[in-house]
Formats: sequence, structure tokens, C-alpha cells
Amino acid sequence: MASGSAKARAKDGSQRVSSVASGGEDVTELLRSRLQQWWGYPDFRQLQKEAMSLVMQNRDSLIVLPTGGGKSLCYQVPALARDGMAVIVSPLISLMKDQVDTLQSLGIAAACVNSMQTGQEKSEVAGMIRRRALKLLYISPERLVQPKTIEFLRDAYVSFIAVDEAHCISQWGHDFRPEYRQLKTLKREFPGVAVHGYTATATEQVRLDIVEQLGLQNAEVLVGSFDRPNLVYRVERRVDAIGQIQRILERHKGESGIIYCISRRNVEATSQSLNRLGLKTLPYHAGLADEERRKGQDGFIDETADIIVATVAFGMGIDKSNVRFVIHAEMPKSLEHYQQESGRAGRDGLEAECTLLYSPGDVETWNYLMRDVEDEGVRSSSDESLRSMKQYCSSTQCRHRMLVEHFGQTLEKPSCGACDVCLKEMTEVEDALVVSQKILSGVIRQGERFGAGYTAQVLKGSKAKRILENRHDSLSTWGLLKDESETQLKHWIDQLLSQGYLRQSGEFNCLEVTPTGRQVLKGQLTPTLLRVRRTEESERREDSWEGVDRGLFEELRGLRMRLAVTRNLPPYIIFSDATLRALAKHRPTKASSLQQIPGIGAKKLQDFGPVVLFEIQQWCLSRKLPTDVDFLEGRTAIADISERPHSSKPATDSVTAAYYDLFEQELSMEEIAVQLDKSLDTVSRHLASWLQFQRRSDISPWVSVAVQARIEDSIGRLGPEKLKPLFEDLKGEIAYHILRTVATVWEFCQHEEE
Ligand code: ADP
Ligand code: MG
Ligand code: ZN
Repeated sequence: MASGSAKARAKDGSQRVSSVASGGEDVTELLRSRLQQWWGYPDFRQLQKEAMSLVMQNRDSLIVLPTGGGKSLCYQVPALARDGMAVIVSPLISLMKDQVDTLQSLGIAAACVNSMQTGQEKSEVAGMIRRRALKLLYISPERLVQPKTIEFLRDAYVSFIAVDEAHCISQWGHDFRPEYRQLKTLKREFPGVAVHGYTATATEQVRLDIVEQLGLQNAEVLVGSFDRPNLVYRVERRVDAIGQIQRILERHKGESGIIYCISRRNVEATSQSLNRLGLKTLPYHAGLADEERRKGQDGFIDETADIIVATVAFGMGIDKSNVRFVIHAEMPKSLEHYQQESGRAGRDGLEAECTLLYSPGDVETWNYLMRDVEDEGVRSSSDESLRSMKQYCSSTQCRHRMLVEHFGQTLEKPSCGACDVCLKEMTEVEDALVVSQKILSGVIRQGERFGAGYTAQVLKGSKAKRILENRHDSLSTWGLLKDESETQLKHWIDQLLSQGYLRQSGEFNCLEVTPTGRQVLKGQLTPTLLRVRRTEESERREDSWEGVDRGLFEELRGLRMRLAVTRNLPPYIIFSDATLRALAKHRPTKASSLQQIPGIGAKKLQDFGPVVLFEIQQWCLSRKLPTDVDFLEGRTAIADISERPHSSKPATDSVTAAYYDLFEQELSMEEIAVQLDKSLDTVSRHLASWLQFQRRSDISPWVSVAVQARIEDSIGRLGPEKLKPLFEDLKGEIAYHILRTVATVWEFCQHEEE
């Protein structure tokens, strides 16, 4: 049967290659086949092939790739291609759990040991290690260096040791973990075993420190490009934070994202304001109770909460691949931090948006927070960081270029096509002098006794009650800039403030024109004013949506959620957004096409193939959409489950997926009937469709072998077409739902034998 052959391919990862291959081409092919078979990815990303071969060669190495670059595959794929078990050091339980869940969902034998496990769980893992049944073991640094762990692992046939987030070993890095320092003993305790470090750290100093601290010998250091071309960077002057955030969120309905603020207080305030507007956000900062923090983090991961408003305390330990936006409501304290935090978006390689809202006051906020730091060195490096950060915010240069150049690299292409500057979303106002003069004289005419909002209203020509009462509708400046939006006017006032042509005073922040502002009025100085174009006009093309049926994408997202809930896994581990988009674009209805979708490896095909194909088929059928678009013909299928004739069509309602999922889990018909609140008869009809669809003949989870034999005996004499004669033949002792199940399988097995 087809299902049998699919199963045979996807047991666990403990397949063995006889020895560490060393030839170039062969090794590459071996790695590529593992990548395709287990992950369903057709090709390597930058430096992955090189990084993996170093592991195959048993050569110490340090691999530097940006967040989302695919560092974990650099050790996971070779772990499958080599004999023995790889040991992976990871700093956080959540990171280990995420990776182990991902690997297990791919059918790979991986496990972790950590302090949250019960004694029994730990001894189960120990048992697997002794039986040589594990390919990857995740462990914390402090546990790994304990003498008894080392003793135990000495006999465990360790293939190599990978140190993830290796910058934690360096005190120059941003996440220094003293426990990582003890890892230096590894090279001594495991002679002959190579150690590999992986990090996204951009600074040279930290890299050298990692090599030194890990005691790597003759290590190869590979550094990839830090550019993240799929991230769209934008900087906006903060005029009305909540409004600006709200507009960004409108572009990301139902998608996941993070909003960073500097202070806990601002986290709370921002989260509350957004929630008042009907958005659903959860706050996260170090001041919350553990329980509440966990709620935030778990909700974000399992997608019950889309938006997290957080301090920088949130992020490390989140490997969620489908974060579609990261908003900084305030300026981060350095470009290193910005790179890190914004980098949490778009790990799946699909476009994601990173917008930074800043106001010149943010620099003061940081200075204030640093006020008690006495160390001269720390102070001056912090000043330096803030300067570069501010430069980034106020610059009109390509943001991608500024970021990579800050890290000592260059951007090859002349325009990135993915930042507000290159997309020409921000343009300099040509007659900035005249516009500035209009605004400044407006301020003077009003007697310098009003704030920015009021000034903008007057220039706009508003007939608000207050303006009429003050008779400001008779000023010559009233309506002088009536063609501009009030927001745009406020934006310009803000720009004049930040450039020192205006200042604010008193408790109501009344605007006053400064001496340099007066020079503008005399035409002696010209301010720079920027105009933000509306995003509809932006030149950005979203290539990754091309050809994607958005309705089907949403439908599949719903399916992914249902599958995730029943399996208690984060949705992005079931399928990445990239996989869902490819499905909604190519719309496979055959296993042979499904297999060609990136992210569908052998195990995913087996576990979710039927239900995904069914969902796509139903969607396309009812909308007359073409299916199996742009596939390579002639590839062999693991199980061509849908190409054979159907004796009847599966049911079409939308809950079908829920049934299929429960059948996958081999729940009894009675259990399913209770769970879905349906009759046994209905459940059995769905089961019949599913069995046919999957060409599955093993029905032992639903009908005992003895009962099957009795029914088959009757069918042999009476045929499978009508259930009533069978029911009577068996003296009414066997219920219809059981009869239907056996008859269905009998029928299609007959067909196949013909
Ligand atoms: P990093 O650790 O460098 O931040 P990850 O290892 O978490 O990155 O990988 C980020 C995402 O990219 C994951 O969803 C992973 O499955 C995906 N990925 C990695 N390598 C490839 C590849 N060769 N093809 C397609 N997707 C990949
Ligand atoms: Mg990683
Ligand atoms: Zn650019």
C-alpha cells in the first residue's frame, strides 16, 4: 500500500553513512540529499554548503551568518550525514525546545536535556543515547561541562559539538553568559572531536574572542554577508506614535510582529493605547510576573497573540520564523541592537517590515538612562553608538547600505529596493524655504502662544471652534498650506523643531521661533523638509506574493493552525509561511507535485500530505482555479495518492480537515464522534473518504482484525456495495459504521488488484 511505502522512508534520522566522506562532490551531494529528504529544501543558502563541509571534515570552525541565515542547518544536516550523535550547546531552554520540536516534526531523532524535565524524561533521553538512537542532543553549557555528563558522553559516540549563539561566551558581546566560559574544557575533554561555533555577531573583537575562548584549533572562520535583503527598513519621525503604529499594523492584519519600546512604562502605555483601539497586543518586560511573561511569549509563539509590545528583554529565545514586522516605537541604543532586534523579522526569507520611529528626544532618554554609569570607556562607547544610531535615523542614504557599512561590509547593488530611501517613500520638499517661512510666520502671527497641533490646524485653514474664538481665521497665515494634510504639517513642524528653527516652551509646549528660525524668515538659511509618500505610491514590489492565491493562503493558514493546536506545536513548525505561499501559488493536488514544494520533506508529506492536498483540491475545484501550476514533470512521487480513480469524492465541508487530522492520529471513531460532536455514521463516512484518498488499507485502529475477518467473509459472498444485506447476514451484531469501513477498503483493494 502507498501509505506503507511512505512510512518506510520516514522513521527516524538514525540512518548511517559508513564513514566520514571527505571527497568534495560526494559530500556535497550527500548533504544535499539529506537537505532535500528531511527538510524538503532544494538548495543551500549562502555559506551553508561550506559550513557543513567543515563539519564533515571534522575541522574546528566559527560560522558567522546573520539572524535567519540558516545557521542551525549548518550543524543539523551534517549531524544526519555523519555517524554518531551531535551535541548542540544552546543557551536557552526555549531555543532548544524550538529546535527539537522542529527536528522531531521532520522525523529526525533529536532530544534535549534540561532542568525543566522530570527525572523520568531525563532517563528516557539517557536510554536513547545508550541505545545510539539519537542523532542530535541539545544541552545547556553548564550541564554539558559537569563531570558526570562528560563521563557519560565519552561513551556516547559524539560526532561533533556545535555551540549555538557562540557570542554568549564573550563578555564583549551583548548576551554574555558566564556559563559559556566553561566550554573551553570541551576540546580537552573530547580529544579528536571538532567544535564548531555559530553566531550572528558582527564585531571582529567578539569573533576573535569566541575562537580564543572555545580553544578552537586551526579554526576556519567563515563570515557571510550581513545584509538581510528581505527586510524593508523604514525610519519615520515620531509625530503621533500610536497613529503611526496603527497605520503599520493595518498592513499586517493577522500577522505576527513585535513593537519595541525603551521603558517598561512605555511598553504598558503603548500596549494599552493600541488595545483601546481594538487591537490585541500583549505587553512584555522584565518587571512582569513570570506567569504573565510566559503568557506573552507562549501566546506569541503559538499565535494566539499576534502583537507583542516589549522592551529588549523580549526576543532572544524566539526562533519564530514568520515574524512579519518589527516596529521600534523609540530609538534603540546602538546599530548593533537595531540589527539584532529588527533581525527577528523575516527569518523565513519572505519580506518583512522593520520600521523605526524616532524623535530627537530619544537620545536624551538614553543619556538619562546612562547617567549613573561612571566608567569612562563605557560612556564614550555609548555616546559613539548613539551618534551612529542618530545618523542612521536622520540620514537620507540607503538604510541597507548604512547597516552593512557600519559592520565593515559593502553593499554591491546600487539600490537595495527595500528601504524607504531607495523606494523613494521619502522625498525632499523642493520649495522647503517657502514652506518653512509659511510655518514660522504662522507661529509668530499667533503670538507664539500655541502648540504644534493648533498651528497645523490654522495653516490647514480649520474652522475649529477654538480657532474661530481666537479669530485666527482672519490671520493671513490661516489656510496658507491648505493643500497639505494636518499630519504632514505636524511632521514638518517637528522637523523644524529638530533642526532648531523652532523650540517648545512652557507646560503646553507652545512653539517659539528661535534666532536661527528668524534667519530662515529673512531667507538666510534653508531648512530641509521631507515629505513621506503614502505607501500605496511606494515603488516596492512584493515578488513573493506573485501568483499566490491569497484566499487559499488564508485557508491553509487556518488549516495550519488546526493542525498545530491538535499537536500542541507552534504553527510555524508545522509549515513555514514560505511553504504556505508556495502551496497557494503552485496549488499541488498530487503527491508528486507536493513533494516539490520547499519545506515538504518525507515526513511532512506523509503526515500532512493528504489533508493539504484535499484542502487545495476543494478550494480550487469550487473556484475553477488551475492546479499543479509550474511543476517539473517526471519527478517520481513517494506515494501517488490522488492519481488513481476515486470511487466516490471525499466530502466537501470545511471541517473535513479536522476529521482528517484525527484519523491521522488514529483516534477511534467513538472518540472522534465525541470530540467533534457527530454521529458514528457521519464519522465513518469521512473515514471512508479518507481511507480511499490515502489508499490506506490498514484499518486496525478502527476495526479489530477478528471483526474484519467476519465481515470480509460476508463481503466475499455478498459483495461490498450494499451494507444492509451484510448487516442482516451478520445478524445485526455489527454496526453500520464498522461495516462501511471494512467495505470501503475491500472495494478499493479489489480495484487495485485488477
Ligand atoms: P539562524 O539560526 O541563522 O538565525 P535558522 O537556522 O533559524 O537561522 O533558519 C532560519 C529559517 O531559514 C528556518 O526557518 C530554516 O528552516 C530556513 N532555512 C535554513 N536553510 C534553508 C535552506 N537552505 N532553504 C530554505 N530554507 C532554509
Ligand atoms: Mg539560530
Ligand atoms: Zn536602500
